Amino acid sequence: MSELWESALSDLRKRLSVESFETWLSPIRFDGIDGKTVQLSLPNRFCADWIRTHYLDLILESLCEKLGSDSLQAKLEIDEKLADRINRKKISPSPPPPPARNRAEEPARLSTGLNPKYRFENFVVGPSNQLANAASIAAATNPGRKYNPLFIYGGVGLGKTHLINAVGHRVLQNRPNVKILYVSAERFTNEFIRSLQNQQINEFRDRYRNQYDIILIDDIQFLASREQTQEEFFHTFNALYHSDKQIVMSCDVYPQQIREMEDRLVSRFQWGMVADIQAPELDTRMAIVKKKAEQEGIFLSDDVSSFLAEMVKSNVRELEGMLLRLAVKAELLNRSIDIEFARETLRASLPPSESITTVEDIQRAVCDYFGIRLIQLKSHRRHRSVTQPRMIAMYICRQHLGTSYTELGWRFGGKDHTTIINAVRKISSLVENEDRNIRSSIEAIERKLNL
Ligand code: ADP
Ligand code: MG
Repeated sequence: MSELWESALSDLRKRLSVESFETWLSPIRFDGIDGKTVQLSLPNRFCADWIRTHYLDLILESLCEKLGSDSLQAKLEIDEKLADRINRKKISPSPPPPPARNRAEEPARLSTGLNPKYRFENFVVGPSNQLANAASIAAATNPGRKYNPLFIYGGVGLGKTHLINAVGHRVLQNRPNVKILYVSAERFTNEFIRSLQNQQINEFRDRYRNQYDIILIDDIQFLASREQTQEEFFHTFNALYHSDKQIVMSCDVYPQQIREMEDRLVSRFQWGMVADIQAPELDTRMAIVKKKAEQEGIFLSDDVSSFLAEMVKSNVRELEGMLLRLAVKAELLNRSIDIEFARETLRASLPPSESITTVEDIQRAVCDYFGIRLIQLKSHRRHRSVTQPRMIAMYICRQHLGTSYTELGWRFGGKDHTTIINAVRKISSLVENEDRNIRSSIEAIERKLNL
């Protein structure tokens, strides 16, 4: 039995980072298998919850493979004695006294964590990311000032990580001595927890609060529902902010839409500048494909670039993936990349009708539904026959696309963002108060758009 566990662990060790493995998997005690139930013990409830939500599937999968079984469940128990065992394990093996892991980490600590590939120079700017790009450049030019904190949000693969890294590189170009750290919120969390387990919380705090001039923290939504880490981040944020140190954060949604995030953090996220990144328009996608091809030394004709840009609409990472797949296959088969080749290669890998809804789609659907014209929807006319459809359109855009108020103001014919906020609030309250007319209009429009 214990061999089985050892062998599963050695698989898992290969699949996880050293950090995650040491923090989460090595404290587990395997207590055997009873029928189809694997019994595991953990040092505390927190570890148990974490294992359950993050690693249990992996563990079970690996055990199933070893046993040739198709399903196993797990029973997790708490055994506080294990806490001692971990601490002892961390201090031994006895020589050398300062644990080897700490020393190995030293160079990483001093390094910035920046990805050398992600710079402003190779970021293609278009209407979908113009605001986020401009705000990032402004933050990089005058760190710690007007755009502090900078909060960039948007969907997967739209360039958030790229932009926040670009901020770091730009600052270093101008001031090479500035101390910058790029860190994912996940890593922040893991380090925080490990510092608690190892009684090194003071070092952790000193590092995050005092040792850097600029902190770039990626995927802040990872802190959702992690109360203790949120509390820690709250103090980190305050310390940095009050010493005028620039904070740049990325997130997959608008601050208020992060579920289970403390209000005081949500409000701080909006103290400086909040900028969104939307899915890029066709022209921007074309430009991205071309730029990427150029960087990778891939020759691409205009019709192939436009084919690719038409095919993949919502995710730049996927767009890049398609391009590389095409290039690799062309090289293997020793063929040039023409439109035929692109079609036959990529057809199979595309999801069946990928489509994403834009602000304009919503505006048109609303106009169709109410029988008004787009120009009226975007006008400043205050007649009820247009004000209500206009507010509904704004509301649906917020609900489904999360478009920023500023951008909506602009897309609705140059309105102030407070106008949009009021409109969205008004419709929300009607919906909440079960206004049947409003609800059925909204539902009909959503159905039409497949939302
Ligand atoms: P996110 O963090 O938003 O999920 P990333 O920053 O990781 O997205 O971007 C995914 C990939 O797409 C990266 O390789 C990035 O360089 C590229 N990318 C995204 N947007 C752009 C852009 N506007 N110009 C050039 N490359 C882009
Ligand atoms: Mg990212």
